[in-house]
Amino acid sequence: RQAQYAALRTRPSVTKDGVHVDLHLNAGLLVDLPHIAETGAAGIGLFRTELQFMIASTFPRISEQLKLYRAVLDAAGERPVTFRTLDIGGDKVLPYMRAIEEENPALGWRAIRLGLDRPGLLRSQVRALLRAGAGRELRVMFPMVAAVEEFDLARAIVERELTHLRRHGHGLPDRVFVGAMVEVPSLLFQLDEMLARADFLSVGSNDLVQFLYAADRSNMRVADRFDPLSAPALRAFRMVAEAGARHGKPITLCGELASRPLEAVALAALGYRSLSVSPASIGPVKATLLELDVAAARKVLLPLLDDRTGTVDIRATLRAFALAS
Ligand code: PEP
Ligand code: MG
Repeated sequence: RQAQYAALRTRPSVTKDGVHVDLHLNAGLLVDLPHIAETGAAGIGLFRTELQFMIASTFPRISEQLKLYRAVLDAAGERPVTFRTLDIGGDKVLPYMRAIEEENPALGWRAIRLGLDRPGLLRSQVRALLRAGAGRELRVMFPMVAAVEEFDLARAIVERELTHLRRHGHGLPDRVFVGAMVEVPSLLFQLDEMLARADFLSVGSNDLVQFLYAADRSNMRVADRFDPLSAPALRAFRMVAEAGARHGKPITLCGELASRPLEAVALAALGYRSLSVSPASIGPVKATLLELDVAAARKVLLPLLDDRTGTVDIRATLRAFALAS
């Protein structure tokens, strides 16, 4: 198996009926970088910047952040990297940051909420990212955005830092793409407003599924009760893919969901043309996509999504389809 996957490294990720579904990597530390070459990933679809903060014993200096981001961009070369700004709070705790007691940390003061309330932290991170991206394309996305106003404020920080760097004669990125994670259900009902503003969206299915079903992602007692390959979650993923198509903006999905082959088939059928997965999943997911007829998968999946009896087993039907083809 491993040898078979290794042989696929240089094969483009194109389905049997000619649909490109780019496979990117989820990463977060320097040790992840060799995976780009090893897997033949199209890029880094999610770089979790909080990991550098989580393994440090104090806030990393801006120079240390800059060094990491440059190393990541250097390792990626021509391949795109999407940096997610700090996603701390909730389950991602910094030992050196005074935490306030929260009844529901997952619903609490975290990610972009913390970033906007403590703009010094977000500003210095954005500055490090912009400087690392000098002379190249830079992609930045914000986690846990729940309302367009938050996105506007976060984007304004990027604009402000660009102006600052320009005024001080620093080199700037050739282009900056600014996007958001779709991981809070409220964004599902603001997709048109978001896509009028954002350059791209990336579905964070780990959190989106957690919040859709009100089931703690780290508590298997409850998280396992709900199958994301069922109508509610799949309809949510479809909404995002369709909104992206309407606006002509790139949509990707970077939660663990895409790392499983059958789930990747469903996402391709829903219209996803870019997925970001764990390094070990690139081989198995690519092997599956190479054998997939997306048009046929759509024909099977879409009617199931529109079924209103509530009795269809989408996973079983999709598995039978995958085995038969
Ligand atoms: C997600 O929520 O799906 C996601 C990719 O972010 P994280 O797992 O880091 O919360
Ligand atoms: Mg998340």
